[in-house]
Amino acid sequence: MINFEAYKAVQTLGWYNMYDPKALRAANDALIEHGEVPMRSEDWAFIMKNYSDIKKQYDKINESTDYKSVGDYWDGNGKYQEAYDKIWKEQVPPKGESEIIWVEAVRCMGRLIYEYLNNGNCNATEVSQDLCEVCGGSGYKDEEDNEDGDFEDCYNCDGYGSVSGDRWVSEYYSDLLNKVRNFTKEYRLVREVEKIICSPDRCSFSTKERAMYNMLCDAVMRKAIGL
Ligand SMILES: [Zn+2]
Repeated sequence: MINFEAYKAVQTLGWYNMYDPKALRAANDALIEHGEVPMRSEDWAFIMKNYSDIKKQYDKINESTDYKSVGDYWDGNGKYQEAYDKIWKEQVPPKGESEIIWVEAVRCMGRLIYEYLNNGNCNATEVSQDLCEVCGGSGYKDEEDNEDGDFEDCYNCDGYGSVSGDRWVSEYYSDLLNKVRNFTKEYRLVREVEKIICSPDRCSFSTKERAMYNMLCDAVMRKAIGL
């Protein structure tokens, strides 16, 4: 299904004819960027041939997960909102960590939600800055060819001389996520949240994205209130 998503993404762009080898390359670039395995040309041909069947299956899976019905703690209608608010009001210390393990898990989850929806995860992400390979770090276009002395900015790095490279979760937020992971054992949801934090185009705040945070918060709350 991840292959089909990559196929659809390229199709939506509309830049290439799907028979063009560049289309497969574009899809594979996206897959690799998301840490997935690239497709072989056979996989690509299979999707083209069985497109309508695969699409039907794909739509069915997406419909079965109704992200809109997941409550939203940020909007005040989370599934266990009342208990969540009560813990924040009565148990979470005004500063620093809680020594009670379930209160601490609720606090960590709340911090993650706040960072996501209030700050767009800008404090939760670290990005490496790599030297721009096009201009070698000078920030200018073709320095040698330019005789007038007015330099144009490098198109690749916009004149900064460096480009954004790898992304990872900063130490502080990584600690919060680890505590939530250890408390809930929700490995898949924690990984989804990690992916949102590390996505190069930052957050989309889509229903699905928010649902990942909210479902993880549901899991924290279920365990915290002993359900
Ligand atoms: Zn450059």
